[in-house]
Amino acid sequence: MTNQPLTVEQIFARAREGRLWAGHLVPGLQAEAQPSFATLAPHDGSEIGQVARGSAEVVDAAVRTARSGFVDGAWSRLAPAERKRVMLRWVALLEQHAEELAALDCIDAGKPITECRETDIPETINTLAWYAEAVDKLYGKVAPTGGDALGLIVKEPVGVVGAVLPWNFPAQMFAWKVGPALASGNSVIVKPAEQTSMSAFRMVQLAHQAGVPESALLLVTGHGEDTGQPLGLHPDVDVVSFTGSTEVGRKFLEYSARSNLKEIVLECGGKSPQVVFADVPDLEAIVDDVLNAAFWNMGENCSCGSRLIVERSIKDALIEKLIVGLDAWRVGDPTDPATRIGPMIEQVHFDKVRGFLEAAKEEGARLVHGGQTLAQGSGWFVEPTIYDEVTPGMRLFQEEVFGPLLAVTAFDSEEEALALANDTAYGLAASLYTADIKRANRMAFGIRAGTVSVNGFSEGDITTPFGGYKLSGFGGRDNGMEAFEQYVQTKTVWYVN
Ligand code: NAP
Ligand code: MG
Repeated sequence: MTNQPLTVEQIFARAREGRLWAGHLVPGLQAEAQPSFATLAPHDGSEIGQVARGSAEVVDAAVRTARSGFVDGAWSRLAPAERKRVMLRWVALLEQHAEELAALDCIDAGKPITECRETDIPETINTLAWYAEAVDKLYGKVAPTGGDALGLIVKEPVGVVGAVLPWNFPAQMFAWKVGPALASGNSVIVKPAEQTSMSAFRMVQLAHQAGVPESALLLVTGHGEDTGQPLGLHPDVDVVSFTGSTEVGRKFLEYSARSNLKEIVLECGGKSPQVVFADVPDLEAIVDDVLNAAFWNMGENCSCGSRLIVERSIKDALIEKLIVGLDAWRVGDPTDPATRIGPMIEQVHFDKVRGFLEAAKEEGARLVHGGQTLAQGSGWFVEPTIYDEVTPGMRLFQEEVFGPLLAVTAFDSEEEALALANDTAYGLAASLYTADIKRANRMAFGIRAGTVSVNGFSEGDITTPFGGYKLSGFGGRDNGMEAFEQYVQTKTVWYVN
């Protein structure tokens, strides 16, 4: 790819010709020498390009470079204000390439182009800018020793960080990890999801162009087994920050236990409740938020509000309004600016989501909207779907679908609402709607989840920490100043007088 920013149309044209490419960005590895696999557009199954396959050797080469760069200090010992300056140059380049990055995430992940343009890429850039700006405002501490000694408590970069990413928000998840890890002086090795490596590849190239040393930010592409696993097992990686499924998260804890006890931070799945009380003054006013929570990004969202827990007296009225609201949610080609629901990421995932539609039917949930899989071209489309009369024993209540399926359950008392909200193994996010401030407070503190939004759907923003309770997460938080904690060590320096 040239250094000139490409337009959305130019990226789509390259994708149609199968000419996109992503591969390892590890000094000394030549692109043409990398064996690769085909990557597909989820909306029509066509081959859009190639992605380099990883291996234990590639990962080892990346870790060696990252470590020697970290020890040499070209990035790690740069003054924080200098790192900020370089990262802000990177941010400026990313802004110039925003359309190109939006098109790459759209075509690679099947995400609606309008969302990539208006949300994913602007938030990606803002996240990197926010951490660049923050890093020269972090102070250490002085211990209360009196005059006999001087105790400094300082934060140092941990060393070599592995960032293992999912496919659902390719650029944004890259920024959530790389922003704080790189700004705080670590050498960072990114492993994007096998399905969505294109925007990460471009962003790392642009970082190098901006002056981030090649040994401070590296990319290894490939599959979980051939690339993610060797990163998890490598004895010279200090931290792995992971976002993805709970199942693979468990594997990273095993890799750590079997190797060097590297620190593991997990951001995993969810089954987040949206609790609506009958005292909500205007049901119409909450429809957009409820639909966004459930169907934004095709429900392929870890904080997806996939369970609607609603007071019985207003349940039918709310469902009716949701169905009307869904008229505006056009399903189709994600490259069309009018589309709001694109395809599922790939065949295997589509089959899994279809399995949930069938299970819901067999278990006796009542289909009130959607339920069809759509054959548009050969893409993997699922209609936004609502099931009523879902009970806690059903798979649809307990298991993460990661697709556009909303499960509705009625309640009769606040106590029951809270019990239902907490009755899954996950605890990532929750929304609740009520006009009663005391009830809102009781519920917000009673729900076991990392983020609770009151009278709206939101994950907060870059200023607030994000992560899960229970099976949703472990070991730290993304976003906010808390994210730095994943990537620094605490050191005491004790001067004896
Ligand atoms: P995934 O299969 O767990 O994959 C996540 C990453 O781990 C990918 O890069 C993947 O590589 C890699 N991986 C897979 N198997 C591995 C193994 N055996 N050893 C080492 N690495 C391995 O998740 P996904 O399918 O990409 O994303 C969907 C899941 O992510 C959902 O469950 C969702 O809830 C969760 N998620 C959570 C958050 C959060 O912040 N809590 C955010 C987004 C998504 P491959 O690409 O080759 O599989
Ligand atoms: Mg996967």
